[in-house]
Amino acid sequence: MRFVSYAVGNTASYGLLTSSGDVIDLPKAAGLLGSSLPEAGMIAFIAAGEPALSIARKIAASTDVAVATHKASDVTLLAPIPRPTKNVFCIGRNYKEHVAEGARAAGKELKLPEFPQFFTKPPTAVIGQDAPFYHDPAITQRLDYEVELAVIIGKAGRDIPADRAFEHIFGYTILNDVTGRDLQRRHDQWFKGKGLDRSCPLGPYILTSDEVANPDAMELSTTVNGEPRQHSNVGQMIFPIPKIIESLSAGLTLEPGDIIATGTPSGVGYAMEPPRLLKAGDVVVCSITGLGSLRTPIEAYVK
Ligand code: MG
Repeated sequence: MRFVSYAVGNTASYGLLTSSGDVIDLPKAAGLLGSSLPEAGMIAFIAAGEPALSIARKIAASTDVAVATHKASDVTLLAPIPRPTKNVFCIGRNYKEHVAEGARAAGKELKLPEFPQFFTKPPTAVIGQDAPFYHDPAITQRLDYEVELAVIIGKAGRDIPADRAFEHIFGYTILNDVTGRDLQRRHDQWFKGKGLDRSCPLGPYILTSDEVANPDAMELSTTVNGEPRQHSNVGQMIFPIPKIIESLSAGLTLEPGDIIATGTPSGVGYAMEPPRLLKAGDVVVCSITGLGSLRTPIEAYVK
């Protein structure tokens, strides 16, 4: 199943994305079928666990939910988790070719990380499909993109062993780790360069983990103004998803709706020769097999 958060006019809710792009409002459709789902939004739905998923399955199979269905053209997609309850967890330098291009651009020797390198992006950075990033050259002159597979946690857990990691995953979506490279370098710690407002495009939908037989086979790609920039597959990760979850959850509780961005492959703009960074007017599209495409226009920031 594919789940979205969405708005119609001033009303926000969450729903099931149909194959035609229409959206079935989940709390409303549940009511039509004589059951109920949380009104509070996607995180509450995820936290409600298997009973809620089972109701969603009935809704997906029902022919009696037309009055709870919005036409694709009437709906504005929001980030599937519009406001995470904590920072988005991210892994840096998790694809060998990306580590290599970074070393090359910095004139340093290639050294692969021995442990996952974690940083975070604040909840205020999260935006959805087609929402613009507003570029202010006074803040960053080296704006860049990074396509990443984002894991959405379903079941809470701490000290999760790698061989149980997939039991804790609700589903997957696309995340663009928009980065100010000059800030990333200047502050010597990644948070500042990765925490800018609207620098965490997320979506367009969450695909449930039962529909992803082998995440390693998923292909990731990025285009800028239609021109191919990144292309790889999840199998190229240095630390695969189970290892990331084991390492991150050691002594740290993961909760339903938590988001983990799993790193970006090579092809980022700053490492190109010459570098090709983002500017107002550009359109970044990040795509992953089965997860659709996440489109982010870059627009000039107006104070
Ligand atoms: Mg990244």
